[in-house]
Amino acid sequence: MTDWNRIAEKLNDADAVLIGASNGLSITEGLNLFADDEMLYPILDSVKEMAAAEQDGRIPSELIPRCPHCGGPMAVHIAAGPGFIEDTGARQRYNMFLDRYHGKKLAVLELGIGWRNQLIKAPIMRLVTREPQAAYVTVNLGEVYITDDIKDKSFGIDGALSDVLGSLRKACMRSYRDYEKP
Ligand SMILES: [Zn+2]
Repeated sequence: MTDWNRIAEKLNDADAVLIGASNGLSITEGLNLFADDEMLYPILDSVKEMAAAEQDGRIPSELIPRCPHCGGPMAVHIAAGPGFIEDTGARQRYNMFLDRYHGKKLAVLELGIGWRNQLIKAPIMRLVTREPQAAYVTVNLGEVYITDDIKDKSFGIDGALSDVLGSLRKACMRSYRDYEKP
């Protein structure tokens, strides 16, 4: 049973809410995590073309995007690769956020990240582990995963984001109204 009231209390009472999500969320939920990234949209058409032509993980060479400067072939930019260039601005903003809310009531809302996605999930759970006042709310359809060491400050919600976000909102509104009563 999901304890909506306790989750809502944690969210309403938090000094800050950190949302952990992968880019799938920006498409499914209409929430635009890439609002500042004007480089993303122009490439979406070629990504669709590549996906349509893909067979056994391969695409025709002429579909590989080329560098506008030197004409060289582009490669997928993944954090595990040797050529990964980190977004240092984003890291700086993240570290500033962590400094600012260190020791405070931090609600971590993790949306739709399966247990296999350790690139996003592992650092989120480590943060919850080391922040004494953190609360961890993880939402996933069929793959709720919480490590033992943070079980007592965690809430797992098994369900689709399209249902869960609505219920979460309702619970927060209810709890907020109770909070405001004199
Ligand atoms: Zn180049």
